[in-house]
Amino acid sequence: MVPRTRRKLVGAVAGVLLAGVPAAFVTRALDDYVDRQIREEAGAGARRALAHAERRIDQAIDGLATLAGAVGTDCREIDVHALNRIVVTTTPVKEIGVLDSDGTARCAELGLAAHSWLLSREVAAAGSGVRLAVVRPLDVRHRVLRVRARPAEGALGIAAFLPADMFMRDEPTRAGAGQVEVRVMLNEGTVVAGSDHRAPWPQSLEDRVTVMVESERYPLVAVASAPRAALAAGHSELTTIGTLGSAAIALLMLALGILLPWRDRNNPIGEMERAIARNEFVPYFQPIVDLQSGKVVGAEVLVRWRKPDGEVVPPARFIPLAETSGLILEITRALMRATRDELGPALARRPATRIAFNLTAQHFANETIVADVRAVFDGSAIALSQLAFEVTERERLDDLATARRVIAALQGLGCRVAIDDVGIGHGGLSYMLKLGVDFIKIDKMFVDAISTERYTTTMIDTLVDLAQNMRMDIIAEGVETFEQVAYLRDHGIRMAQGYVFAPPLPGSLFLQLLEAIDPLQPGQSAPAPASALAQYVAERRSAAA
Ligand code: C2E
Ligand code: CA
Ligand code: CA
Repeated sequence: MVPRTRRKLVGAVAGVLLAGVPAAFVTRALDDYVDRQIREEAGAGARRALAHAERRIDQAIDGLATLAGAVGTDCREIDVHALNRIVVTTTPVKEIGVLDSDGTARCAELGLAAHSWLLSREVAAAGSGVRLAVVRPLDVRHRVLRVRARPAEGALGIAAFLPADMFMRDEPTRAGAGQVEVRVMLNEGTVVAGSDHRAPWPQSLEDRVTVMVESERYPLVAVASAPRAALAAGHSELTTIGTLGSAAIALLMLALGILLPWRDRNNPIGEMERAIARNEFVPYFQPIVDLQSGKVVGAEVLVRWRKPDGEVVPPARFIPLAETSGLILEITRALMRATRDELGPALARRPATRIAFNLTAQHFANETIVADVRAVFDGSAIALSQLAFEVTERERLDDLATARRVIAALQGLGCRVAIDDVGIGHGGLSYMLKLGVDFIKIDKMFVDAISTERYTTTMIDTLVDLAQNMRMDIIAEGVETFEQVAYLRDHGIRMAQGYVFAPPLPGSLFLQLLEAIDPLQPGQSAPAPASALAQYVAERRSAAA
């Protein structure tokens, strides 16, 4: 229970942490996006103001162009009516003045624009020769843009005066754009017109978004500026959407964090890999008994998957997947290490006791198992000569030559090799016997037949003959009754394993059993009397009854 809860917790925490990453990205991306939007808005405002100013100047210049012949070199030649007509017909032009080449007002006596203060330098537009200056007429308080066309050689110049308010547009203010201030300025920096051009921008520049656009035709710029906060407020829906989006992502990641471990739990190979890492595959030991002496001569290692919740899963439920996934190799290593650690001391004191491991066809495809065996047992409390390996007759070995080499290598280490499940394989025993093994294990099926169908027991006699001819030992498996014990012993079978003696036992119980029926006096390794096992079995039977 605890690990599962913890796994969920870990998943949830990972989910939250993972969720933080995209949420941070979203927030950042959103900030960038809002910032870009704000800049675009301000830029658009500035471009509109600039285009408007250019149009006003265009209008003034068009008006001035019609006066080309109306001004000569002398005030007396001036067609005052034509000049006044321009003031009436050209919207932005409120006055017309005549200037000499250095910009001084002339011909004021004709009722034309009189002298004014220059508030800026006069700047010329490249190419057209149009000159712009910000001036303040002596009699008014507001600024005026003076637009002067290039005068004909030697002639007096004419200037159009455009009041500042001609440059301001009445734009419908949009949400958040209310605080955008746009100023139109000469490119030398003097403000022509703008919302409160006298006041400096009210906040420091970092707190404002400021965008400047330059005119391509006149020496003019438009600057739009607004407090960042006010603009961001205009995008509050977006920010809300972004925040909700981040929250949604966070929730999604959270859900994934919780679901992934769950999904992983449903991925059997992943689950098996983690179980290997957590040492959940544990060896059980089924005693192998000498039928003559009653002594435990060894044990077969049978794997069990002990899950964290206490469930003990039998091999039939996971060995097939372990084999197809290849994880069986790692599981076998884990079993060998666990066996060495658990039984080492007891087996060191009982050098005649053997331990058998089950191998699969994969183990005989190359010599990895030989290296594994050495790595685990070389120099350990369990001698290599105490080891046996079983290869089942059920599975066909693809590469018989390699299998023989692996078997020979194991035997070279001092280990013994057995053919398991003899009698039920499809490969045929004769081909298996080419492997040069040390003993065979008769399948439970033939042992079962002993009590029921007497005629199939001839199979056992045949196997006994065969084994004796080939100098192989025989172990009978799945022995459940004393009748079978007697039969096997009478037919020359020396060793057996089965429930009649003991089921596969966890290490601690197997060690207890070893001590109970084969007690060692200090410094002595004498065989236990056969009666000890008989007594043990009798106790088991009466306990079971
Ligand atoms: P096996 O190698 O033929 O192992 C003998 C099976 O018969 C074991 O089943 C054992 O518990 C069971 N058995 C022993 N005595 C009796 C008996 O008196 N009556 C009955 N009905 N059954 C008895 P288990 O432990 O469930 O293992 C099943 C099979 O799983 C094994 O058959 C073996 O093929 C495979 N296996 C078990 N452990 C390993 C392992 O570590 N590696 C590999 N590759 N296969 C393993
Ligand atoms: Ca076996
Ligand atoms: Ca078997």
